Amino acid sequence: MKQSKKLGINSRMIHGGEFENPLGSATVPIYQTSTFIFDSADHGAKCFSGEDDGYIYTRIGNPTINALETLVADLESGAQGIATSSGMAAVNTIYMALLSKGDHMVSSAAVYGPSRVVMEQHWSRFGVESTYVNTASIEEIKAAIRPNSRVLYIETPANPTMDITDLEACAKLAHDHGMLMVVDNTFCSPYLQRPLEMGADVVFHSMTKFLNGHADIVAGMIVTRDKALGSKLKSMMVTLGCNMDPHQAYMVIRGIRTLGIRIERSQANAMKIAAYLENHPKVEWVMYPGLPSHPQHALAQKQMDGFGSMISFELKGGLIAGKVLMDNVKVAILAVSLGGVETLIQHPASMTHSKVSAEAKLKAGITDGLVRYSVGIEDVDDLIGDLEQALLLV
Ligand SMILES: *Cc1c(COP(=O)(O)O)cnc(C)c1O
Repeated sequence: MKQSKKLGINSRMIHGGEFENPLGSATVPIYQTSTFIFDSADHGAKCFSGEDDGYIYTRIGNPTINALETLVADLESGAQGIATSSGMAAVNTIYMALLSKGDHMVSSAAVYGPSRVVMEQHWSRFGVESTYVNTASIEEIKAAIRPNSRVLYIETPANPTMDITDLEACAKLAHDHGMLMVVDNTFCSPYLQRPLEMGADVVFHSMTKFLNGHADIVAGMIVTRDKALGSKLKSMMVTLGCNMDPHQAYMVIRGIRTLGIRIERSQANAMKIAAYLENHPKVEWVMYPGLPSHPQHALAQKQMDGFGSMISFELKGGLIAGKVLMDNVKVAILAVSLGGVETLIQHPASMTHSKVSAEAKLKAGITDGLVRYSVGIEDVDDLIGDLEQALLLV
């Protein structure tokens, strides 16, 4: 849709995504092809020189993938979308395009485990340095900035602690120091938070989570605020070869059509569950941005359009009690990942963040007893009843 910017976000999720439609299909066609036929040798040469924007080869571009890229770029208020095979492909494309030998990155201490592990264990082998701080504190970020700092990498709400980072303040700080700000927006999706509107330069997603939302696809997306940075990241993705597949793109487009109603339902469920857990005598603490007890509840209200459906909590009995709970829930599924229609429960210290060092986990607030709960769209009474029966056994 050409004028989609004028429509509300729910309408754009349903009608957005640019694609040529000669046969008038109601959905985006799947161009399941690796290569595209040129009209003539001259046409082929023009496609390669950029004089003609015709399709060449699916790693470089594909109409189904392009429909998804334009859809998510529009939802994020960005100039360009770059689809990737997974969220981690997006992370590594960003690291490789924006950081060189001798450069330094400042990052949130509580980030998706592998985003940190790949930087500390592998990009460090190529001379890229990194420091991890509690980015909820602007002072801590300031203290970590060095003359060679190039990227400020933020995940908010943080994974899995649910700490909130002030995106506007961070963008200003990054730009004052000549750094680019990158935001992992996986936990929110553009429905709840649009970091580019708050000054970020690059935003990315594991679309495996909320955007696709049905636990049946692994996929990633990078969106940039300006076109030049978009071209730089796009050519890095193309040469790394971590492109998306057309069928994968179709599935994510289909998932995004219901993103709004899925999030509305799951966050309404999450609010009730967080309140239930907070009042339960066996629960030590609950972190959910929608609870007034969350230390950055006001900031969450300011920069998010809703509080999302991710909850972290710890039982009074610590890790042992947490394991009893995870082994006895019957509606929630014991599995990593998040943001799907089904409720998931997992233990970050031994699962998603197991490769992060014990010291780093402690500093990031990832305690041994922390349980992460991703709320789905089931009937909330069933989810609370499920927790209730499992907590009786703790
Ligand atoms: C899952 C996840 C990733 C990695 O994405 P994949 O699609 O699994 O490669 C990155 N960041 C966050 C916050 C995630 O939850």
